[in-house]
Amino acid sequence: MSEKVDVVVIGMGPGGEDAAGKLAEAGLNVVGIEKELVGGECPYWGCIPSKMMIRAADLLAEARRIPGFAGSSTVTPDWGPVAKRVREATDNWTDKVAVDRFEGKGGHFVRGVGRITVVSSDPVEPQLTVGPIAAAKPLYDQLRDAVAAARKEARVVPLA
Ligand SMILES: Cc1cc2nc3c(=O)[nH]c(=O)nc-3n(C[C@H](O)[C@H](O)[C@H](O)COP(=O)(O)OP(=O)(O)OC[C@H]3O[C@@H](n4cnc5c(N)ncnc54)[C@H](O)[C@@H]3O)c2cc1C
Repeated sequence: MSEKVDVVVIGMGPGGEDAAGKLAEAGLNVVGIEKELVGGECPYWGCIPSKMMIRAADLLAEARRIPGFAGSSTVTPDWGPVAKRVREATDNWTDKVAVDRFEGKGGHFVRGVGRITVVSSDPVEPQLTVGPIAAAKPLYDQLRDAVAAARKEARVVPLA
């Protein structure tokens, strides 16, 4: 089955999610494809969990400095609360909230691996080509023009 849309965003990490959401809000027909979790590395494996671990480690280090400064302390590290907070912050590594947010903006979400293939009957110039983009134009206008100016059509195939 093939369908024509204005924009296909492959990879819904922070960059893709933001772009796809804003383009959908601007009224374009947008498909976002993500093979893992919408939000990408940052909320599930990168920025957020790492800061929770670093914060916990900082607290332990600070508490160990109490003797000599402000009395006495006994510090017993426990990974359990750290893991619990990470699970809460990542929704146990589910992205339903993010998918709903994107679809709430009018986007269409596909879970799978996106691949760009060229659909062209021209054997001489089989690449996907995108027309020139004026630098001063806002992003959405640039993309809208780029879609309109594309001389070939790309079909995105969710693989798995
Ligand atoms: C430990 C750690 C801590 C970090 N801390 C910070 C921080 O504090 N502040 C900060 O600004 N940055 C931080 N970062 C960096 C931040 O995570 C990345 O800069 C950010 O996630 C990049 O976003 P992105 O959208 O470019 O890519 P990604 O987050 O990598 O998203 C790309 C998405 O595309 C998907 N994808 C790729 N190919 C396909 C395909 N063919 N089809 C479908 N889906 C596909 C992937 O599954 C992924 O979800 C940290 C990173 C790490 C590892």
